[in-house]
Amino acid sequence: MQAMFTVTPVRAFTDNYIWVLQDGDAAVVVDPGDATPVNHFLHQQQLRLEAILLTHHHADHTGGVAALQQTWPNLPVYGPANISGVTHAVQEGSQITLSFAQALVMEVPGHTLDHVAYYFEKALFCGDTLFGAGCGRVFEGTPQQMLASLKKISQLPASTKIYPAHEYTLANLRFALAVEANNPVLAIRSSRDQALRERDQATLPSTLSLELASNPFLRTAQTSIQQAVAQYSEQPFSDEATTFALLRAWKNQF
Ligand code: ZN
Ligand code: FE
Repeated sequence: MQAMFTVTPVRAFTDNYIWVLQDGDAAVVVDPGDATPVNHFLHQQQLRLEAILLTHHHADHTGGVAALQQTWPNLPVYGPANISGVTHAVQEGSQITLSFAQALVMEVPGHTLDHVAYYFEKALFCGDTLFGAGCGRVFEGTPQQMLASLKKISQLPASTKIYPAHEYTLANLRFALAVEANNPVLAIRSSRDQALRERDQATLPSTLSLELASNPFLRTAQTSIQQAVAQYSEQPFSDEATTFALLRAWKNQF
């Protein structure tokens, strides 16, 4: 049982969250797309940067790595091997030992082929794979790969907190309601999350249990979702992988 660290979102660009894990004066950042707000936060909180964790190669997740390495010499950077600046390449099953916690690496391809997630006891940093009420676009992988990655995440304990890298929840909820208008959890979540955004607060972290109950991309085995997808795409009922692919395509047009 590891002591629980605190997690704070540092905002970057329009809707990115750079999650900062901290315990005492030690900090670890996930996906620093921009070094400036990270260094500002570390300075303000008088923290020492101990490591960087990267989920995938996109610039909005990695753009601050070089500058942070300059400010913090010998900084370990964990991530997929193809990303420049990575000092500790990770893959499925890699264990990362930080001063205050341990993480397990899960490969979750789909958004990109190199995408990984970091699982701490009861917390998952999942980059652009799973979002609040949605999932990432499938840029490099196949819909089947993305579905398999989401299924893998779905196997974690339901109480796991979910820390995606973007604040996309409200737009995702609008789509989710179009797919599954009668899901009572969606109505409750929408009003709660709208109130949070009106106060300029993050809708994240979420929990896996909430995602399982309201995120259509984790619910492609449900008849309600399969029927809605079949109706929208004017295709007969098909298997879960096809349902997922059609659902993702529908979201892209939404
Ligand atoms: Zn991305
Ligand atoms: Fe991103």
